Amino acid sequence: MMNSTRVAIPTLVRIKPDALARVGVYLSRFDHPRVAVFLSEGLIEPLVEGLRASLEAMSIEAVAWRMVDSHAFEDTVAHFVQLPRTATAIVGCGGGKALDVAKYVAFMANLPYFAVPTSLSNDGFCSPQVSLTIDGKRRSLAAGMPFGVVVDTRVCAHAPPLLTLSGIGDLAAKFTAVSDWKLAFYHAGEVVDDFAALLSDGAVHAFLGRPELDHEGIRLLATSLMFNGIAMEVCGSSRPASGSEHLISHALDEFSARPRLHGLQVGVAAYLMSLLQQQNSQAIGRLFEQTGFWDAIASDRFSTAEWLQAVRRAPAIKPNFYTVLSTRDRIPEVVEALASDRWLKACFTA
Ligand SMILES: [Zn+2]
Repeated sequence: MMNSTRVAIPTLVRIKPDALARVGVYLSRFDHPRVAVFLSEGLIEPLVEGLRASLEAMSIEAVAWRMVDSHAFEDTVAHFVQLPRTATAIVGCGGGKALDVAKYVAFMANLPYFAVPTSLSNDGFCSPQVSLTIDGKRRSLAAGMPFGVVVDTRVCAHAPPLLTLSGIGDLAAKFTAVSDWKLAFYHAGEVVDDFAALLSDGAVHAFLGRPELDHEGIRLLATSLMFNGIAMEVCGSSRPASGSEHLISHALDEFSARPRLHGLQVGVAAYLMSLLQQQNSQAIGRLFEQTGFWDAIASDRFSTAEWLQAVRRAPAIKPNFYTVLSTRDRIPEVVEALASDRWLKACFTA
């Protein structure tokens, strides 16, 4: 059942240099004297200390200070069970796992959640769902939207480049996700939420107009990814952000000998699916060329055999989810594209 009437959007949004040092100010502005903090295990010390100092400066007590190294559902529930009752808000700081765990704990505890990503490797920092594992299998679960989104562009600009490229790959998926959504409308009568599709489309173009990896580029990428998460919230489904390209990435996560970062898999799959959809291939290919995405993939090639297996497996990952892969057997076209497309052929083992 689609829910288009109750839409939650972040109340506080700060996307700027040195925003991390002001997290305490933002929390106190909304009257949160005691917070539970979830950090990525291995987060570099200056960031950990920066966050700690920003809370101390505003006399905010961290009633829990947890390092997150697992995004297993069971461990996340344990965090919730151990959550001190005095916490009035949850803060997640770091990469995908810590943010998803923090978001889900906040969702279970019905507390406002402040997301403080230190890299932009995917659109999860401001989306209404989380990716956790249950019995070792990756699952997308519904969760609330963050109350606050704090992106320190200086911090994210200094994150490992591969993480930022992963975020760009996840962003490119919006082209193919929206195309799949329209196919689902024409072939299966699935209703397209016009405003969510428009928002998703507009989101991509914010970054596409200036695809640089400097502070301003990071600001645009964060904005684009955030709007995309909001598009999901607007229509009550992941359709504006996730289509056949995500199914391929999920399949790879299941059986690849060495799964790569979400957005790296999703980005290459998005370009591949755009060829089948016969839409937006040039825009995606050029974006990847300008940002160095193709070069990064080519320096650590994907396995052709694994990808063919993933494309075959993809439709079964989410039954009744119509995409370009539902139309007919697309394997011959995929084989051809991987071997002969000007960009793809450099990204796959022979
Ligand atoms: Zn994604």
